[in-house]
Amino acid sequence: MSKIQCEHIIKVLNEHGIKYERSASMANYSTFRSGGRAALLVLPQSLSQLTVVLEACSALPSENILVIGKGSNLLFCEDEWNGVVICTVGINSVTCEGNFVFADCGASISKICACAERNALSGLEFAYGIPGSCGGAVFMNAGAYGGQISDVLSFSEYYDIKNHKTVRLTGIENDFSYRHSFYADNPDCVVIRAGFELCDGNSEEIHMKMSEYMARRKEKQPLDMPSAGSVFKRPPNAFAGALIEQCGLKGTRIGDAEVSTKHAGFIVNCGNASFGDICSLIERVKAEVLEKTGVALECEVRLIRNGSV
Ligand SMILES: Cc1cc2nc3c(=O)[nH]c(=O)nc-3n(C[C@H](O)[C@H](O)[C@H](O)COP(=O)(O)OP(=O)(O)OC[C@H]3O[C@@H](n4cnc5c(N)ncnc54)[C@H](O)[C@@H]3O)c2cc1C
Repeated sequence: MSKIQCEHIIKVLNEHGIKYERSASMANYSTFRSGGRAALLVLPQSLSQLTVVLEACSALPSENILVIGKGSNLLFCEDEWNGVVICTVGINSVTCEGNFVFADCGASISKICACAERNALSGLEFAYGIPGSCGGAVFMNAGAYGGQISDVLSFSEYYDIKNHKTVRLTGIENDFSYRHSFYADNPDCVVIRAGFELCDGNSEEIHMKMSEYMARRKEKQPLDMPSAGSVFKRPPNAFAGALIEQCGLKGTRIGDAEVSTKHAGFIVNCGNASFGDICSLIERVKAEVLEKTGVALECEVRLIRNGSV
């Protein structure tokens, strides 16, 4: 992104009263509490502000625009990332109509689950406790305890930055597979809203199921430490955490990055872990697991570097 492009975007943001931060520390916007800065961070507070921002950025190359939600599955490089990060958490309306829950891109998964519970709608309980947003969950096809977003997504709506239009995809058109969606292959398409189709249920039972899943998370996961959840995707017929533990890597540390002693699939930030510390630890774990078990682990956490997103 050139200086001129950045100044043009800031002019548009000022004209529309849209919040932004220059040279923003992305550690503040990532659950890892680590990572470098981004040249420009924009915080739209409504879908119409989001459209203005995306239009203002439309001349930028795709690798200079990144839309994020809660930052619970990403880590920014140490060098200042030369692009515009658009954080959607201010756009977070959730409504219910019949068996459908509709959510804006920045709505937290817990808010969506709470709406489903209030309206006695069952199907999203598995997602309770995933600390992401609607957009991030659709992008990642987030899942847990045998469920995934693709099971309940009726549609997603996206804004196509290059073609300047809004498009609706039915569930099947989202091209979902394990931790993958249409959006992973189409960086110019930004999830703006989604609809979830749920079944009639009982609020008390839904509440109990969600509490049980949360209790399991608290028991098994290092929720008191900054992290981005499971670092690696689940390899076929195995669990990344079990393989890492089997290789004796629990507690392995580089700088302030540590393979969690509670759940080996997590890397936690014990203080001031840098992007470099975390990446080196990821590479060390991958190399040892490959050598000792023959399994090639694949990173689930998105590592954001200049020149790629
Ligand atoms: C403690 C902990 C536990 C976790 N447990 C689980 C779990 O059980 N299951 C699971 O699947 N994940 C889990 N995660 C990972 C993470 O919460 C999910 O992947 C979540 O869906 C990411 O949402 P987010 O809003 O934080 O996305 P971000 O981290 O902000 O972004 C992730 C990716 O989605 C893209 N994105 C975000 N919003 C949009 C949008 N509106 N349009 C287009 N692209 C977008 C970003 O560009 C980025 O590539 C866990 C993480 C933590 C920290």
